[in-house]
Amino acid sequence: MKTSVIGYPRIGKNRELKFASEKFFKGEISEAELLQVAAEIKKEGLLKQKQAEISFIPSNDFSFYDNVLDAAFLFNIIPARYSALGLSELETYFAMARGYQGDKGNVKALAMKKWFNTNYHYIVPEIDDDTEIKLNRNKVVDEYKEAKENGVDTKAVLVGPFTLLKLAKYTGTKSAKDFAGVLTENYSILIEKLEKKGAEWIQFDEPSLVKDLTQDDINLFKEIYSSILKKRVSIKVLLQTYFGDIRDIYSEVTALGFDGIGLDFLEGRKTLELVKSNGFPEDTVLFAGLVNGKNIWKNNYAKTIDLLKDIKSVTKNVVLGTSCSLLHVPYTLASESKLSDDYLKHFAFAEEKLEELKELSKLSDFAESGNVAAQVTFTNNQKLFHGRVDSVDEAVKERVAGIKESDYTRLPEFHEREKIQKEKLNLPLFPTTTIGSFPQTQDVRQNRQKLRKGLISKEEYTEFNKNKIAQCIKLQEEIGLDVIVHGEYERNDMVEYFGENLAGYVFTEKAWVQSYGTRCVKPPIIWGDVSRKQPITVDWSKFAKSCTDKPVKGMLTGPVTILNWSFPREDITIKESTLQIALAIRDEVLDLEANGIDIIQIDEAALREKLPLRKSDWYSQYLDWAIPAFRLVHSGVKPETQIHTHMCYSEFTDIIPAIDAMDADVITFEASRSDLQILDSLKENNFKTEVGPGVYDIHSPRVPSVDEIVNALESMRERIEDSKLWVNPDCGLKTRGETETKASLINLVDAAKIIRER
Ligand code: GLN
Ligand code: ZN
Repeated sequence: MKTSVIGYPRIGKNRELKFASEKFFKGEISEAELLQVAAEIKKEGLLKQKQAEISFIPSNDFSFYDNVLDAAFLFNIIPARYSALGLSELETYFAMARGYQGDKGNVKALAMKKWFNTNYHYIVPEIDDDTEIKLNRNKVVDEYKEAKENGVDTKAVLVGPFTLLKLAKYTGTKSAKDFAGVLTENYSILIEKLEKKGAEWIQFDEPSLVKDLTQDDINLFKEIYSSILKKRVSIKVLLQTYFGDIRDIYSEVTALGFDGIGLDFLEGRKTLELVKSNGFPEDTVLFAGLVNGKNIWKNNYAKTIDLLKDIKSVTKNVVLGTSCSLLHVPYTLASESKLSDDYLKHFAFAEEKLEELKELSKLSDFAESGNVAAQVTFTNNQKLFHGRVDSVDEAVKERVAGIKESDYTRLPEFHEREKIQKEKLNLPLFPTTTIGSFPQTQDVRQNRQKLRKGLISKEEYTEFNKNKIAQCIKLQEEIGLDVIVHGEYERNDMVEYFGENLAGYVFTEKAWVQSYGTRCVKPPIIWGDVSRKQPITVDWSKFAKSCTDKPVKGMLTGPVTILNWSFPREDITIKESTLQIALAIRDEVLDLEANGIDIIQIDEAALREKLPLRKSDWYSQYLDWAIPAFRLVHSGVKPETQIHTHMCYSEFTDIIPAIDAMDADVITFEASRSDLQILDSLKENNFKTEVGPGVYDIHSPRVPSVDEIVNALESMRERIEDSKLWVNPDCGLKTRGETETKASLINLVDAAKIIRER
């Protein structure tokens, strides 16, 4: 059986591309040196795939920053403000990705958005009425040639025209359909060039097909691809989809005459059903996505072989593939030196997934061949699925099973609590606060590092942080903030910190995954049943409270965010894992309360991230358990304890009732970069929760003026009752410097005072 890889990681096994790019940005290495690093990364990936006998190896899956940006750049979708800088080709490309500030001008980067339901971010192409779409780069052909020189005849891969048009932002009066014709022609020109070079296959990535589609979308898609398919001469066209099923367009897609169609059988809940009930065209190759490109667990061969049998009952013309690009998993287990084999043998990163494809392909032929080696591989694989060391905790399972319906509801209801809390806390109108973290200066990070390396004792470490906390509180009192935080100096990252302090988690050393551009994340792995062994934040918060008479806000990360930024288990549902984490955080909430902390913030920065791609799935597949999981965390507190939550975005206009149903007492969110339209929607929806829409952007060192904040607050007051409005920055301050932080917060407090007087 043949095998296919949709895309391969490209940041480098040891993040070589990241470091080289950063050096290039600083002018420390030349363009030629950067290209050399890129060439080596590409070559290594190709050879690894060749070694694993992958039949369809991708080229042009490499990118210096992002594949969507690559496609936009390829077809000259370059806003004039970037080409006007007069930079070199690569520098123009980076200017679009990261902005440019230098002797040739000053332009901001293009917007960045999350790539479907992953933690990868793409650059949003920007098209205006004058955009002249034309193929004027050679990246696709060049990388095809480059791979050939490395001895691999690849399928050329790029983002397809439909997805490119759907993801673009249109700043003029024209829209996607106005550009479809010319864009399609240029994709055809590209195909012609590839044909001349002898390319046999081209893969168009069209993940936009797994979203809800309108009739216009379907027409647009058909128009584009009927033209492309008609014009091509010899190349075979693979339409590749992933991250879901294509239920809205399955019959149209299968009727168009593609040479290959790639479907995701893992995330596509309906894919198998679609194939079985509608059939599959005889002359088309079905690229079946069965090896998970998004998670790190070993493939369960028995399950996969069963699924393959099912698929083969419809068509014999099947290629075994990854479910999506391997970009979303780390490179290799070979880099992990600390975890024992008891753990590692259960994981498969990109390189190991190549082996899985190879083994699975042999196994699927095995019935006919009766190959003994294949049988051994199979048996060994199955042994892996009979439990893992240290992963089971019966007490946790029982506790989850014992959750009662009433545990999801906090009493008394919101309005009654609101009154009680106002009396107890006695805060002024428009209370001021921050989101939690204060600048993580060099010394703070060094302190943590020294502890990790064993250079200082636990006591010395704690002493240092206590000093920091005391200073931070003094600063907040001087500034005049009403609700005080401890500053989060003990945290590297809001999820990793809790992961490290919860049983059931394991950590990798080098398992980096690209998040955007040169930024990588190293998500922790949920290994087993999760529980809290001892209090995590209580000592820090207690100490903070001892430093001031003002209310101190305890600071936690919520269960949905902890789950969304980890690699989840596959042997239990993510709902079940989330409930386990929720119970652990609930224990922490109750301990904070018992220790006199009467305001507790539970951050859900990533709640929106795993919102399903289809609206019809939003509640049934996600919010229906995610929101109750959050409520479970805080339902046990006393009426006078005030629960805050924080989110890093304001794009929740369409899920406002769900956000209100989290039943927090106060919610703060990022708002300064949005148009405040969210506030109108809050009003329309009778949003009950008190709100703190961020009054200034913390992503830049710029200090907001008092006037500016007053104006922001005044327009908020038009939409939110005075008694419900809080005053705070957009997000945590950990990436900011100390000077601008202090100046900004002084202005924030002054602005609140001015409004109070009015
Ligand atoms: N409490 C966290 C902080 O202030 C919140 C971070 C976030 O929302 N991403 O850093
Ligand atoms: Zn935030």
